[in-house]
Parts: sequence; C-alpha cells; structure tokens
Amino acid sequence: MAQELESSIYKVDSKVHKRFDQRMTVFGRMLHDESADYYGKGMYERIEKILSKYHFGYTRLDHARVMGAWTAYDYFHEAFSWEKMVDANSVMKKAELEKYPVSDIGKMSEELKNTAKFYGASLVGITRLDHRWIYSRNRDGKEIEIPAEYKFAVVMAIGMDPLAISTSPAFTACAETAIGYSRMATCVGSTAEFIRSLGYNAIPMGNDTALSIPMAIDAGLGEMGRNGLLITKKYGSCIRLCKIFTDMPLKADKPIRIGVAKFCRKCKKCAEACVAGAIRSDMEPSYEISCPSNNPGIMRWAVDQDKCYRFWIKNGGDCSNCIAACPFFPKI
Ligand code: SF4
Ligand code: SF4
Repeated sequence: MAQELESSIYKVDSKVHKRFDQRMTVFGRMLHDESADYYGKGMYERIEKILSKYHFGYTRLDHARVMGAWTAYDYFHEAFSWEKMVDANSVMKKAELEKYPVSDIGKMSEELKNTAKFYGASLVGITRLDHRWIYSRNRDGKEIEIPAEYKFAVVMAIGMDPLAISTSPAFTACAETAIGYSRMATCVGSTAEFIRSLGYNAIPMGNDTALSIPMAIDAGLGEMGRNGLLITKKYGSCIRLCKIFTDMPLKADKPIRIGVAKFCRKCKKCAEACVAGAIRSDMEPSYEISCPSNNPGIMRWAVDQDKCYRFWIKNGGDCSNCIAACPFFPKI
C-alpha cells in the first residue's frame, strides 16, 4: 500500500528555481535556439534514408502507422482550447443549463475522476495549482498567466500498451506513443467539456502550458525516476500525461511514495538501456543540470535532453528504451 505524505516529495532550491520558459525545452530550442546543433532539425528529417535500409521495424508501413497514430493529437486542436469548443461537427444545438452547484467536493472529485476514466484516463489525481510549474512563456514566447480562480489541476495518465512500447526504439513503439498522445487529446478535451457543461472553466493541456511531472507527483500519481519520467505503481512510466486547470471546487489528493526514489539509487537499468548516454549514473540525485534544457534548482537525476533528442533524429522517431527497461514497467 502506497504511503501518503503530508507534504511534497521533491526538493526545490527556491533561491535558484524560476518558472521555466518553454522555448528552452528541446522542441522549443529546435525551433528557436540557433546555437543548438539540432536547430531546425525535425525528428523525421532522415526518414528517407532510414526507410531505404529496409531494417525490421523501420519499414515504410511502420512509419505510415506512426503518422496515422498522431492524427487526433495533431489535428484535434480544439481539444486543447482554453475556451468552450465551438467548431462542432453536429447539427444538434447544445443545451445551456444553469451552473451545477457543488456541495460536496469529495463526491464531485470522484465524479470527475470517474468521468475522466470513462473518457480514457488510466489514472487521475487532483492537486492545488502550484504556479511554480507553469511555464513562464510558451513555445512562441507568449507570457503565460493563469487567473487566480483556477485553483486546481486535474492530472491524468493515459496508459500505453507495454507490448508495443517494448519494441522501442523501433517504429511500433513510436506508433504507440503517438496513439497515447491521440488518446490524450480525446480524454483531456472531453473532460474539459464535461467541466464546462457543468458551468465551470477548464484549461486543458498536454505537455504545453505547465510541466506535467511535478503536478502528477503532487496529485499522487507516482514519483519521479532516474529516467526523468513519472513512475506510477501500476504502469511504471508506460503512460502519457495531460492535465486540466479548473475553477471547479475540488478535493486535492496527496503525494505518495511507492519506493522509486530509493530503488533508483541502486538500479541503473534505464541508464544502461539508453543508447544516447543521456541518463545519469550517479548514485544520488543532485541539483546538477545536464544540458540547457534542464531547469536549474530541482533535485533529481537531470536527463541530458540534447543527447536524447539527437538520438531521436538519428532513429527517425522517438524512443522509449528508458520506459521499457524499468523494473516498474508492467509485465507483458
Ligand atoms: S528516450 Fe531513449 S534516448 Fe532518451 S533518455 Fe530515454 S532511453 Fe535515452
Ligand atoms: S530503470 Fe531503475 S533507475 Fe531507472 S527509473 Fe526505473 S527504477 Fe529508476
């Protein structure tokens, strides 16, 4: 049984830590940072060369399967709209009802969690919104300010198929990652509309707007591992994360300990499985950063995102080796 903690379970040096600018993430730097050696280099830029080698798991059909899997995430933009969706593909006018009164925040929170699971979430937790984890600016450089009335973050984990992820770094694993993102769009967009249909506001997001992992930790979904990912008890890191900020009155969950922090000190399986050498092998976590895409002031094993992304370009697709190698990965 996971042990509940009264306070947060990560360490932040408040003298150093600042809200992170999303332009400093790897994808932000790929778009904006001319000093990065991967500036302007997308993940698929070597694809023709890779496909021409006819390697198992890297065929034209495998790649097409990845492209299809991204569809809902890449094209269902309204899923991440900060406002009520308007561009409906329906002839039915939707009812405008009075605001739903919330008299019992515990019951409302359970209803919301069950609804998110109904829409595809594997795990759901709620935390009070900690503004430290909101990006200072988005990838286009626009300042992000979340109004004070948004007091809660609902954090959802979308489980991925371990069998498909175990083929990493081949394209079947990339397709499963993409399906995870597409399921995320359906789940987060639908859950946001559920909240709005009850008369409250909702800001849904994937990896944008705020850092998912600390919010997921605060919401009691798991702990952060050496691999730089959230580790959950049931799915390990075999998940994608999304979240919704809302002004609906809710009951916050508490962080949990499932033994990850202690286990990672000795286990270095993810570091051994990382062909890019991006995961640190030091026994203890520290405040040391590994590349400019790490935000300083957070105690952890900081993953070298530059090395990681360089491998993704070489691979012609993303990688899940550090997910599949972890002993917390679900049994297949
Ligand atoms: S995704 Fe792959 S390259 Fe990146 S840190 Fe994990 S194992 Fe290494
Ligand atoms: S593989 Fe081992 S060291 Fe890496 S995150 Fe999982 S438990 Fe921690």
